[in-house]
Amino acid sequence: MNPTQSADSDHPQTRAAQALGAIEPITRAVIAPIHVATTFIRDADNQYSSGFVYGRPDNATVRAAEAVLAMLENAPAGALLFGSGMAAAVAAFSALDHGDHVLAPTVMYWALRHWLATELPRRGITVDFVAMDDLDAVNAAIQPGKTRLVWIETPGNPLWTITDIAALAEIVHQAGALLAVDSTVASPFHTQPIALGADLVMHAATKILNGHSDVVAGALVGARDDQYWQRIIAQRKLGGAILGPFEAFLLMRGMRTLFLRAAAQARSAQSLAERLAVHPTISAVLYPGLPQHPGHAIARRQMQRGFGSMLSIRVVGGEAAAIATASATRLWHRATSLGGVESLIEHRASIEGSGTPCPTDLLRLSVGIEHEEDLFADLDQALRRAHG
Ligand code: PLP
Repeated sequence: MNPTQSADSDHPQTRAAQALGAIEPITRAVIAPIHVATTFIRDADNQYSSGFVYGRPDNATVRAAEAVLAMLENAPAGALLFGSGMAAAVAAFSALDHGDHVLAPTVMYWALRHWLATELPRRGITVDFVAMDDLDAVNAAIQPGKTRLVWIETPGNPLWTITDIAALAEIVHQAGALLAVDSTVASPFHTQPIALGADLVMHAATKILNGHSDVVAGALVGARDDQYWQRIIAQRKLGGAILGPFEAFLLMRGMRTLFLRAAAQARSAQSLAERLAVHPTISAVLYPGLPQHPGHAIARRQMQRGFGSMLSIRVVGGEAAAIATASATRLWHRATSLGGVESLIEHRASIEGSGTPCPTDLLRLSVGIEHEEDLFADLDQALRRAHG
């Protein structure tokens, strides 16, 4: 074995830090080059022995990043990168058939909820939205033999609802359906859904997987190389929703430090949640790491090493006080998105569409890697200023 290659027995943190030990063969560089070629030489015997034919489905930089993600998720079928998280999710639904039925959560990324509600019916696919933390409601909504895919998101945006992946997998599989998990917020640092019974994992790699707010990317990760997975591969190859090599390179760089970033962010988020929970200007803190969170017991089982970098606060004084708080921060950037090294604050109801379960007094906080005392002090002064 190449002495620089990481071994299967090494910890995922070690293997990610070294990008699986890839060494560039010509120069022995420790960082792989960015492959930009869109086409590849055919062999004299008319074959493509390299396995690379054309740049849309075939790119070595993209494949290298996919290999690291597949390792992090411990995914037998591997990982596929897409041009955005939405493109990845859309590919998963596009691989279904006319007449299929889908279940999706009431609390989920708002743009995907909107897409499901408006686009799936046009494709002859019916969708019902159900509270996935209520197993009786899921049992009542699932249609054995007709429901093909159950989509969950845990923790779920922006209330950080926790769904029990293992319990859902049992219900879903008994009904003959597949379980897909949007694991963007948990990331493989906290949760590996396939080990808990999921069939498909989706990531908005734009978020904590990349971690630097400089790449838009998505991923699907498969538990089995079956007919459904092959349909998804075809969706990407023929539909062309690929990731570019520069983005794949940046994503690879981000994933190498995932363990350090996610650990620091989860530590700060937990501490901030505990301190904000007793703040006089806050009526509720939504964070699965707090014992009072309704999903705390399940989160303790299915999330390792903490509870993620996302929390929401509900501000005393309603919408006006919440918006005034976001306007008064100095360090927290007023911006959408999440998972980056810089902390973000957002009045979430302002960006979500109609039918959102997001209360108007809610601020969504994405905790970065700044010093936790600075983050708390800035929020504290903003909350006090907003409350005069
Ligand atoms: N899923 C979740 C949980 C998200 O937060 C987002 C984006 O915010 C998406 C999916 C969509 O990802 P993208 O913006 O990369 O298309």
